[in-house]
Amino acid sequence: MKINQIAEENYQWVESMGWHNKSVLEALALVASEVGEAINECRHEEPTPAFQEELADIILRVLDIAHWQGINIEEAISQKMAINQTRGTRGRLK
Ligand SMILES: [Mg+2]
Repeated sequence: MKINQIAEENYQWVESMGWHNKSVLEALALVASEVGEAINECRHEEPTPAFQEELADIILRVLDIAHWQGINIEEAISQKMAINQTRGTRGRLK
């Protein structure tokens, strides 16, 4: 399944649950909350098995915002990857 298809399917599910009742800022805060959950799954020597679920939550929340805002996230990702590849290390160590 392509990213935009996942975004569409997830958006429709969130909509059916009645959870699109927030601002973009609130939705971004919920992305941050999922990042916190992912951090908690990495507090030991190795990430826990639940780490992958939290990464998925982060991506699904981002895709939901993108679809909601009419952003073609596949195109946005491709464009940004191309930009990044022209930038070199920007002074960062390898
Ligand atoms: Mg979560």
